[in-house]
Amino acid sequence: MKYFSTRGQSPELSFCEVVATGLAPDGGLYLPENLPDIGQNLEKWSSLSYAELSFEFLSLFATDIPKDRLQEIIQRSYQNFDHPKTAPLKQLDQNLFVLELFHGPTLAFKDYPLQLLGNLYEEQIHRTGIPINVLGATSGDTGSAAIHSLLGKKNINIFILYPEGRIAPLQERQITCSGAENVYPLAIKGTFDDAQKIVKTIFKDQAFNQKHHLSAVNSINLARILSQCVYYIYAWLRLPKDARTNVEVIAPSGNFGNVFSGWLAQKMGLPIASLRIATNQNDILYRLFTTGRYEKGSVRPSFAPSMDIQVSSNLERFIYFHEHENTQKVCSIMKTFSETGTYTFDPFNPSSFTASRTTDKEIPSIIREVHERYNYILDPHTACGFKGFQNQSKDKTHIVLATAHPAKFPQVIEQAIGLSTTHPSLDALQTKPIKNYILPGDTRIIQDFIEKHA
Ligand SMILES: *Cc1c(COP(=O)(O)O)cnc(C)c1O
Repeated sequence: MKYFSTRGQSPELSFCEVVATGLAPDGGLYLPENLPDIGQNLEKWSSLSYAELSFEFLSLFATDIPKDRLQEIIQRSYQNFDHPKTAPLKQLDQNLFVLELFHGPTLAFKDYPLQLLGNLYEEQIHRTGIPINVLGATSGDTGSAAIHSLLGKKNINIFILYPEGRIAPLQERQITCSGAENVYPLAIKGTFDDAQKIVKTIFKDQAFNQKHHLSAVNSINLARILSQCVYYIYAWLRLPKDARTNVEVIAPSGNFGNVFSGWLAQKMGLPIASLRIATNQNDILYRLFTTGRYEKGSVRPSFAPSMDIQVSSNLERFIYFHEHENTQKVCSIMKTFSETGTYTFDPFNPSSFTASRTTDKEIPSIIREVHERYNYILDPHTACGFKGFQNQSKDKTHIVLATAHPAKFPQVIEQAIGLSTTHPSLDALQTKPIKNYILPGDTRIIQDFIEKHA
């Protein structure tokens, strides 16, 4: 299987090359040259474990990794999850289900793609003999999930910038208490945007970049998108047979990575009827999918911080299909958007996507109502997926993706239902020593630091 860029001006690559590259050199995102039809396999896959299903699905794409090796990598990626089903589907009501995606090491859904990506990086180093330095900025979940996917791996260092004093205390502990030698948490004076800007500037420094073999961790890596298709398939296969028609999957969304994976799975023949994009008050996707106008706003911090995003990097992959696979059209849309901050699609076809938006005022009351009715505790991101749950159509099956464990956000939960939430892995962090490096938000100084430690 070969992979091409949505902007059509980069050479085609193999799976392993795409994993190592992330963003295409023309600024586009990679997609597979064809989408296999999985519909015929579903019956055969229905009794597989999560790791077995991942292997069957991903071996359709990772055609340049020998099968036994791929199988071993995938087994290893999902062995540190704390639930025997890896991604358990829980039924709350006649036609309401939750797919719990918080059983990985950092208790958020990003562990599902990133545990695998960490091992794929390692495979790449094994093949090329070239060490990798991973560099990224984080406002929370991505950084900790990336760190925990690369802990202690040979020939990989990971440098994660975060804004000092501006991330949740538990998230800071997840980033700084790993105890691993190859992890460098850099607490930067300034905001998340400042940290992000430094990272972008460093990536533009070609000479530095090549010398240190820098690699980005972010949600545009195609391996992340493909590995997320697996839990949509897994969830559908866990549904009772009579609940499998007219299924809507609801994904708390920010960068449009998670929900796009579901759409790809549907395109490959997974029989789900619709996908709901559930945003918080940062509603760029809600506005696009309800009006056809894509317009950047400014980020307003919310109770669901991992969705505090105003430009959704993965949207370009959908735009490619929306524009009938015309890469020139994709280039011109992305150019207009980057120059003006707006693009209006006319006509706009939302395909099978629907959208909702949840404000900070609504999040605690949704958590309270769901807790009262079902004795089930939602985290603030998942709460956005429950918007309107009382009035949902009875002839549909709803699966809400639970993207984080509630114990990661104890203040909001306390405010909503007066209970304190904990998790053993978060408790354990409280006694571990913090290791971080407090640095000024200055590109030169960060580069010197990397130079010294890479
Ligand atoms: C990252 C994240 C999201 C948003 O996922 P996208 O793929 O960016 O749309 C939702 N919930 C949680 C808890 C996250 O960490």
